[in-house]
Amino acid sequence: MVIIMKPHAPKEEILVLKGKLENQGFQVSVTDGENYCVIGLIGDTSKVEVGKIQANEYVEKVLKVQQSYKLANRLFHPEDTVVDINGASIGGSSDLAVIAGPCSVESEEQIVEIAKSVKKSGAKFLRGGAFKPRTSPYSFQGLKTRGLDLLKTAREETGLPIVTEIMSPNMIDKFVEDVDIIQVGARNMQNFDLLKELGKTRKPILLKRGLSATIEELLMSAEYIMSEGNENVILCERGIRTFENYTRNTLDLSAIPAIKKLSHLPVIVDPSHAAGLWWMVEPLAKAAVAVGADGLIIEVHNDPENALCDGQQSITPKRFENLMCDINKLVGAGVRPVYSSANV
Ligand code: PEP
Ligand code: MN
Repeated sequence: MVIIMKPHAPKEEILVLKGKLENQGFQVSVTDGENYCVIGLIGDTSKVEVGKIQANEYVEKVLKVQQSYKLANRLFHPEDTVVDINGASIGGSSDLAVIAGPCSVESEEQIVEIAKSVKKSGAKFLRGGAFKPRTSPYSFQGLKTRGLDLLKTAREETGLPIVTEIMSPNMIDKFVEDVDIIQVGARNMQNFDLLKELGKTRKPILLKRGLSATIEELLMSAEYIMSEGNENVILCERGIRTFENYTRNTLDLSAIPAIKKLSHLPVIVDPSHAAGLWWMVEPLAKAAVAVGADGLIIEVHNDPENALCDGQQSITPKRFENLMCDINKLVGAGVRPVYSSANV
């Protein structure tokens, strides 16, 4: 960290600040320039409260060299994290992990039929919302615990591990018991109480990027979970709010190489919520593979026109089958880049 003092900052004030920083355990060097005095800090600055330094009336600017996240940082953990889910894995050199299923669980027939078809096409995990975060309180809110039971039935029928979204810390025990990967949705990415409680479990957590969250904010949210001891975090780019409104969100494909450089955590892409349009799911899914995503999460519905949620962005099982065929060809052709601390 570098602190630039204001021109003509009194010498004694510089020494007071230097002393304070030394007391916090940093190695501090003071360099006097012609106009500015620059203080350099060596040590683990990830926990420094920059705001407090900036509040000093003689400080002109603070430049952070090190990121505030540590456990999620590739710098301190160069090898890729591989998250194990009952023998299936996501991250590192694992196969592309494809999670597929409806936005919401609607009935036993619906979830079992979709689970069987996506499994046949090569999906390795089943998704399905039981507790739905809807913009309107009058929209379908999910089947709640009945939805979890139906997901378990679909898991029994197919063997696919299940992924579903949690909304409240009150439900954590139930989710730990019932679910294989707990999803934290975009709207809860900064629900810090929820993140901390999930950090106390050892369940794999699928953490989706917030609607207007920066990459750094996403990684800080991962840090919340990890700092409580749970290192099984999978990140998800699902599109962000921009001025563009043709699509529901804007898929930030550059987030994938950026996250791969900054972090060792696996990162997957959700082309369904990014586009909000079923016909864009295929090209965006392929693009995600080409930029090096560790996996995909795709909404598949057997009757999109009558879906209770997100039919407009759901692809049919047949389209999913074709997409998986194309994706396998892409993967077979070696288009997936491999990121490591040596090449990013
Ligand atoms: C979902 O996956 O069903 C969902 C609501 O996604 P997001 O949190 O990304 O909007
Ligand atoms: Mn959805």
